[in-house]
Amino acid sequence: MAMRIDGKKISADIKDELKEQVAGLKEKGISVCLAVIQVGNDPASTVYVGNKKKACAYIGIESRAYELPEETTEEELLDLIDQLNKDDSVNGILVQLPIPDHMDEKKVIEAISPKKDVDGFHPQSVGALSIGEPGFVSCTPAGIIQLLKRSGIEIEGKECVVVGRSNIVGKPMAMLLLRENGTVTICHSRTRNLKEVCRRADILVAAIGKPKFFDASYVKDGAVVIDVGIHRNENNKLCGDVDYDSVIDKVSAITPVPGGVGPMTIAMLMHNCVEAALRMNE
Ligand code: NDP
Repeated sequence: MAMRIDGKKISADIKDELKEQVAGLKEKGISVCLAVIQVGNDPASTVYVGNKKKACAYIGIESRAYELPEETTEEELLDLIDQLNKDDSVNGILVQLPIPDHMDEKKVIEAISPKKDVDGFHPQSVGALSIGEPGFVSCTPAGIIQLLKRSGIEIEGKECVVVGRSNIVGKPMAMLLLRENGTVTICHSRTRNLKEVCRRADILVAAIGKPKFFDASYVKDGAVVIDVGIHRNENNKLCGDVDYDSVIDKVSAITPVPGGVGPMTIAMLMHNCVEAALRMNE
């Protein structure tokens, strides 16, 4: 029987551990503070920001919300980031993406101090990950490593196939699996013989953004399947990039959607905030 990797439980465990750690830091006079900036009122972003604030409140992290109107100029946003970079009471800065079209996303991400880059999107954070230096790691792939480790799944020496090469999921995922001594292949939309490559995987990470794309024909017997995709179908039900029912009898372990990778992202964001505070107080 396949193991259902319980992201809800693992993320709750991580949040409880962080809560204890934050309480311990408070006793030493160290507080943790995350600044969350939202520009405009995209409903999905409002939900994500709300969930982040809730997680902060649970753990004991102060969250400072900056809700800016849609017509905010890029200069105004950059000024706010600059102020927060200089504010020693702020440990982490997060700009909820996407931002309005009249702003340059790259410029905004690069304006955040790498010391406060809790999303791990700054080029310096990405570079640090590539060369094995300390730095913040993008939360979704960092969460996947935690799912594997806390489920007792060994990565070292395993054939790991990551499908998707985005800057926030696929590429950092591949780097992290490499750091854990996996043998890593990255696939993308131009990969030839995708099925054959996927069937080599001991650990298959599906992150392409296509609902139920990966059926049993992509999966080796006994493989571990990590489903990063998240989609709402016509009945308003969530599903992933993997056709769960098709692969379930073939895999040794799998992350469900919902309740697999999804809950890990916020848990790892909280982890990065605590890490930022620890580094600032070293
Ligand atoms: P992107 O759209 O940025 O990247 C998709 C990647 O998949 C690209 O590299 C693309 O290749 C590749 N791809 C697309 N179609 C195919 C195909 N048919 N065969 C092989 N490769 C293909 O997506 P993200 O990385 O941002 O997200 C991926 C999925 O994960 C989405 O469903 C997203 O909603 C979800 N997600 C979930 C999160 C969570 O917390 N659970 C967090 C972040 C994302 P190419 O580069 O050649 O175009």
